[in-house]
Amino acid sequence: MSVKTLPLSHEKMTQIANTYPTPFHLYDEKGIRENARAFRNAFAWVPGFKNYYAVKACPNPAILSILKEEGFGADCSSYPELLLAQKVGITGEDVMFTSNDTPDSEFIAARQMNAVINLDDITHIDSLYRNAGMPELISFRYNPGPERTGNAIIGNPVEAKYGVRSDQLIECYVKAKELGARRFALHTMVASNELDGSYIVETARMLFNLALKLHKETGIVLEFVNLGGGIGIPYGLDQEAMDIQKVSDGIRALYESMIAGTSLDPLKIVFECGRMVTGPHGYLISKVLHVTSKYKEYVGLDANMANLMRPALYGAYHHITVLNKEDNEKDHVYDVTGSLCENNDKFAIDRSLPEIEKGDILVIHDTGAHGHAMGFNYNSKLRSAEYLLHEDESVEMIRRAETVDDLFATLNF
Ligand SMILES: *Cc1c(COP(=O)(O)O)cnc(C)c1O
Repeated sequence: MSVKTLPLSHEKMTQIANTYPTPFHLYDEKGIRENARAFRNAFAWVPGFKNYYAVKACPNPAILSILKEEGFGADCSSYPELLLAQKVGITGEDVMFTSNDTPDSEFIAARQMNAVINLDDITHIDSLYRNAGMPELISFRYNPGPERTGNAIIGNPVEAKYGVRSDQLIECYVKAKELGARRFALHTMVASNELDGSYIVETARMLFNLALKLHKETGIVLEFVNLGGGIGIPYGLDQEAMDIQKVSDGIRALYESMIAGTSLDPLKIVFECGRMVTGPHGYLISKVLHVTSKYKEYVGLDANMANLMRPALYGAYHHITVLNKEDNEKDHVYDVTGSLCENNDKFAIDRSLPEIEKGDILVIHDTGAHGHAMGFNYNSKLRSAEYLLHEDESVEMIRRAETVDDLFATLNF
């Protein structure tokens, strides 16, 4: 069971919703900081532990700056994400460049920034070397293929476009070393929105085994293993957050039995988690434009799927709180929709909620990762603003809403 809370009282949330034009995303700085600290503390036993926050989850400089202060790095997958990290002062090896199908220009940029380059493919070794030279530190992304089943969301590793095959992995390191690499790392990501902690522990076991095998066969000593992102959050009330301390304890036990005392010790462990860091601390705040009855009962919001794609894209559950009606009986069943000309533009289908009236304020939970970031302009919808709720309860706009001029900026009239 998970409990969905708001960062402030209903009264104060209402005040904010009536002060700034809806819809908008509101991020809770206190929640994000506490969460980031808990993650770091759980892995305090790992010398040099770092989470490289996946920038794609919430690409906003204010959020990245907070995470930088909490000791996080940035995981980037494109040139603009690399630039964003630089602009907030996350630089050098605090930046992980985990890309795929990578243009040469991005290898050059990542190399100029001295980011850690995590190669997705054996053929990328040549691309990188020819265009930017071989860096001192190089990482490879591993795809275990049939040796491991992925989780439901990321799918079967055999079908995944990512990573280096098992039989190519050793060759990758040998080749990179021949071309001048001196420091080495290993990455994998076989889960997305996973809530079963044992899956993460087993991924660590897989990487430790590979690290030992690589050392045995080539003498190469890995500097770190990167468990990627993919730790889930309990979107549904019936789901339970992953116990990160338990995951850490499980990985520690494996470390003690497999790595401690070997020539790989100390082996750093890092992550690239995005969702679990900011996801639960974002809220999409929206007002009800229409309540109506067709063949079903509908609540129409001023937000739409351009503000939050996940329900339409994945059929994902996002909890909804109706402000100031928390104690009312949830005796109405609604489809909660946006205004896009797409029938899947629904935030909830057949959701039991209290009776809703025009003007009510709905808070859609868990939008702090892969929320605003997935926004788009289909139907010429304008993306909303983002606000940050500071620890002193003041509210700061950290991205303004788009205007028609923004939308037309790339057009010739
Ligand atoms: C998306 C992604 C992440 C972050 O995933 P979360 O589910 O947000 O933790 C990390 N690494 C890579 C390579 C990714 O593609």
